[in-house]
Amino acid sequence: MEIKEVLSKYYGIDEADLIYLEGFEDKTYKVEVAESKFIFKEYRYSKEAHAAIESESGILEKLSGISNFNFPEVIPTSANEPYVVKGNSIFRLLSFLDGELLGDADHSDQLLRNLGSLLGSMDRCLSESFDPVLMSRDLEWDLQYLKKNLPYLKYIEDPSDRSLVSYFFQQYNEHVLPTTHQLRKSVIHNDANDWNIVIGNKALGIFDFGDLVYSWTINELAVAITYIMMDKELPLVSATEVIKGYHAEFPLQQAELDILYYLVAARLCISVCQSAYGKTIKPDSEYVTISEKAAWGLLKKWIRINPLRAQKTFWNAAGYSWKPKIDRRKLFEQRNAHLSSVLSLSYKEPIAMQGAAFQYMYDTSGNTFLDAYNNIMLAGHCHPYVVEKGQKAMAQLNTNTRYLYGNLNLYAQKLLEKFPSNLNKIFFVNSGSEASDLAIRIAKAHTEKDHVLVLENGYHGSTQTGIMISHYKYASSKGPGKDPSILHTPMPKAFGSGLADDGSCGHHFASKAREIIESSQEKIAAFIAEPVMGCGGQVPLAKSYLKEVYQLVRDQGGICISDEVQVGFGRLGDKFWGFELHDVVPDMVVLGKPMGNGHPIGAVVTSEAIAKSFEKGPEFFSSFGGNPVSCAIGLAVLDVIEEEQLQQSAKQVGDHLKTLLQELQNKYPVIADVRGYGLFLGVELAEENYKPLTELASLLKNKLREANILVGTDGPHQNVLKIKPPLSFDRQNAFELTDEIDRILGEIL
Ligand code: PMP
Repeated sequence: MEIKEVLSKYYGIDEADLIYLEGFEDKTYKVEVAESKFIFKEYRYSKEAHAAIESESGILEKLSGISNFNFPEVIPTSANEPYVVKGNSIFRLLSFLDGELLGDADHSDQLLRNLGSLLGSMDRCLSESFDPVLMSRDLEWDLQYLKKNLPYLKYIEDPSDRSLVSYFFQQYNEHVLPTTHQLRKSVIHNDANDWNIVIGNKALGIFDFGDLVYSWTINELAVAITYIMMDKELPLVSATEVIKGYHAEFPLQQAELDILYYLVAARLCISVCQSAYGKTIKPDSEYVTISEKAAWGLLKKWIRINPLRAQKTFWNAAGYSWKPKIDRRKLFEQRNAHLSSVLSLSYKEPIAMQGAAFQYMYDTSGNTFLDAYNNIMLAGHCHPYVVEKGQKAMAQLNTNTRYLYGNLNLYAQKLLEKFPSNLNKIFFVNSGSEASDLAIRIAKAHTEKDHVLVLENGYHGSTQTGIMISHYKYASSKGPGKDPSILHTPMPKAFGSGLADDGSCGHHFASKAREIIESSQEKIAAFIAEPVMGCGGQVPLAKSYLKEVYQLVRDQGGICISDEVQVGFGRLGDKFWGFELHDVVPDMVVLGKPMGNGHPIGAVVTSEAIAKSFEKGPEFFSSFGGNPVSCAIGLAVLDVIEEEQLQQSAKQVGDHLKTLLQELQNKYPVIADVRGYGLFLGVELAEENYKPLTELASLLKNKLREANILVGTDGPHQNVLKIKPPLSFDRQNAFELTDEIDRILGEIL
C-alpha cells in the first residue's frame, strides 16, 4: 500500500510533504502537513518486529510520565489503534520532536550535563521495566552482543586498523565479560547518539527507539559518551559532564564505571565494523558510514587514553575518589627485598607499568607513555593476533621437540624461507643468549677450533659464553676481563673515524681485524658481530667491513655468525635481516628478542653441513625450545609482519623520523650524529671534538620520560639515544618524539 494512502486512510492526513530519512533498516519519513510535523515509519512485517513495536509503544507510554524532557508519542489511527498492519508492512505515526540536533550544536558543559540528566532520568524511569520481548532481543548494536560483530572484522580494509579493533574485542573479553554478573540490567534506548537528541525550545528530547534492548544499564551512557567524545580535542572532558548529569539523576556504580572504557571501545568497534560491512552492501550510502571517520579518530585516541586514566576520570566524575590500586613505593621496596640490585631499573624515576597496547604503555597511575624504546615488541605491545594464537596454543598442547607436531615444522619452514637457501637448518631455543651460546658451541664443534673473534662494545648474551664473547660486558669496569680464547677488534664505526663510509672506513677497520687474526697463535672458530650494533650505540658497521672480515675469517677456517637479535625481522626497513645490508651471507644467524613479540624464543639458523658436524656430538635438547606454544606465537609474528607490512612501515616511518632527527641535528650542534636504518636509530650527543655528552644524554632521556616518551641510552659512553620502537610507531609519533626532543634541548641548552 502506498504511504500516502495509509496516511490518508488511517490517519486522515492528506496533502502531506514526505521527506525520506535514511536509516539502517526501517523506512522513516518526516511528514509535514500545514503547521504540523510527524514521523512516519514503515517496518517490514515479522513477528519480531510486531512484538518490538508493541514493546516500544509501552516504553514510550512510560516515558511520557517524565515531564522535563521530550520523548516521541505514538499517534493513534482514527480507529485509535497504535499502528497499522497491512500486507508485509507495519506502519505507524509518531510525534515529531522539533529543534536543533545535538550533532549540529555546540556542546557546552551545561548542554552535556543536561544530556546526562535526560539519559539518567530515562534509565531511572525504565529501571524496573520487565519486557520479555526486549529481553530476548539480540541486536548486533547491543554491547552485550559485541561478539556478533566479529564476522564483520574482515571487511575492515587496513590490516593495522583491523588489529586495533581486534585488540579491543580481546580486551572486552578480558575485562568486561568476567564482570557481567555484577552489572545492573534494564531496558535502555541504546542509541543516544547526537543525531537522536534534539535541543527543543524548553527541553532536550530523544527519539528513535528502534534499538531498544534489555541490556547492561551502563551501556546507555557508554553509547552516549562515545558519540559525544567524537571529534573532541579532549574527549574525557566532555564525557565527564555527561557522566555528572547522569549520576545526579541515577547514581552509577563503581563496577559499571570500571568497564566503561571498554564499552566505549566496544561501541566504536561495532560502529567501524558495521560501516565496513555496510559499505559492501550499500556502497553509495552516506548513512552507513556517517560516523566512520570520527569513530576511527576516537578509537585511535582511545588506545592512548588507556583504561586506567579513563577509570580515574569516570570515578571522579561520579564523585568517587580514585587511587592507584598498586602502591609504586611498595613495589619498589618489595623488589629490593627480593631481587638483587644487579638488576637495574630504567630512569631516575622508575615506572610501575600496568599495561600496554601497540606503541603505548601505561603505568599504575594511568599515565600513557609513547614507547620509542622496546624493540622486542616488534608487532606492538599485546598485539591481538599474537595474543590470540598464544592463548589458543596454550589451551591446546604444550610439549617438547621429542614429539611430532605440525607447528614446529611449519614455523621452521616459514622462518627458513626468510633466509638464503644455504641456511636451511634451525635450532630453537628460549633467548638470544641461549642462541649465541649454542652458536658458539656449534661453531667450535664444526671447526674444531676454540678461539672467537668479537667486536669491541658488542653484546651477545648473559650466559657464561655470552659474557665471554661480549666485550660490552667483560671489558666493562666491573667485568671479568677478556678470556684468553677471545680476540677483539675495534668496532668499525664511521662517525668519529675521520674516514668516509664509502668502503675506506670499512677497509681500515678490516685491516685492524686482519692484524689481530694474523697475529693470533690460534686459529679462530668463529667471528660474531651484529650488523648494526645495539649496545655499542646503534652503530651500523662501516660499509664493506663485513665482506672483508668474513673472507679473512673463512680463509683461516672459521665461520661467521650474524647476531640479528636486535635488528632482525624487518625493523631495518630496507632489508629483513641486517646481514643483507652488508651484502654477505653468514654461516650462522642468531635470533631472539622480536621473534616472539615478547614471548621468549630464540634460534640458531645454519647450513646443513654445519648442523651435520654438530650431530656428531651428544643429543641437543632444549626443554622449551620449539615448543608448540612458542611456535604458534612465532608463526603469528611472521604473519603480522607480512599482513601489516611492518618492514615497509619501518622503512617509511623510519626514514621520516630520521629526517626529523637530522633537522634537529642542524639546529643543535650537540647532536653530533644521527644514524641507523628503519626504526633502529641512534642519536649521538657529543662535543665538536667528539667528546661524549653523557650527562646530557641521561638528562634528555629522563626529561623525555617525564614527558611520557620512552627512549634509552647506550654506547660505551652512554651518550647515544636509542630509538627502536614497536613497528606500530607511526608518522605522528615521530613528530611527537622529535618535537619533544626539540622542546627539551631548547630549554636546557
Ligand atoms: N644479542 C644481542 C645483540 C642482544 O642485544 C641481546 C640482548 N640485549 C642478546 C643477544 C641476548 O638476548 P637475551 O637477552 O634474549 O638473552
